[in-house]
Amino acid sequence: MHIFAIANQKGGVGKTTTSVNLAAALALQGQRTLLVDLDPQGNATMGSGVDKGDLQRSVYHLLVGLASLSDVRIRAEASGYDVLPANRDLAGAEIEMVELDRREMRLKEALAEHVGEYDFVLIDSPPSLSLLTLNGLCAAHGVIIPMQCEYFALEGLSDLVNTIKKVHANLNRDLKIIGLLRVMFDPRSTLSNQVSAQLEEHFGDKVFKTLVPRNVRLAEAPSYGLPGVLFDRTSKGAQAYLNFAAEMIERVNSWREE
Ligand code: ATP
Ligand code: MG
Repeated sequence: MHIFAIANQKGGVGKTTTSVNLAAALALQGQRTLLVDLDPQGNATMGSGVDKGDLQRSVYHLLVGLASLSDVRIRAEASGYDVLPANRDLAGAEIEMVELDRREMRLKEALAEHVGEYDFVLIDSPPSLSLLTLNGLCAAHGVIIPMQCEYFALEGLSDLVNTIKKVHANLNRDLKIIGLLRVMFDPRSTLSNQVSAQLEEHFGDKVFKTLVPRNVRLAEAPSYGLPGVLFDRTSKGAQAYLNFAAEMIERVNSWREE
């Protein structure tokens, strides 16, 4: 069982698109998958086909101790995986948790009883290095960092890498960077190619081989309540995420052999 946080404190870099499509692609490959929406925007929830406006209970209830995982999780039927859904309530958890014991460990502890039922647990993080994100990093074995190959991309990355190092040192010895995923990639752009080459230079085999291109079908899919890989499986974006899931499975299997 592998728990991965999908994180980048920069907004709009493709965290949710990656979370939802990786979850669906893993499910298509027979992996039992749970997607945790840790963002009050609730985009991963909606993108999985679950209505965030119509939740009895959400991740908020889980984090503040008002519900257990089995009360909160919903099967995203069309998407093929389970979801711990979120909506604006979750913004309140951020404030309420400050008062609680072991406030960084709330998610880890809430997941503990049921994680064994899954092959993969994916956590979609909000665009901040907040207490919510910290809960994701404390619950995870690894971090997947989606990023656009833009001019300031590397600069923003150092804050995230430092945060991950601090969490590793102080709160979660299991945590490591699984890899960087280049998304919304434009192969015709010189800058994209330069930044991409720089990433490979700095991070070596921590950079996933899969490149996710900019593809409008991925952006359209959430309005149909479907992950892109199910909405239009033949699109270039869907194909990339299917390849990414295969790369992910290969990578975790290679750890077993080590
Ligand atoms: P936030 O920080 O607000 O949570 P995010 O990092 O989760 O954002 P997404 O919501 O996944 O980012 O993506 C931002 C926007 O870019 C969305 O409109 C999404 O549909 C679009 N998008 C993401 N990936 C791609 C892609 N490969 N091709 C085209 N559009 C994309
Ligand atoms: Mg998001």
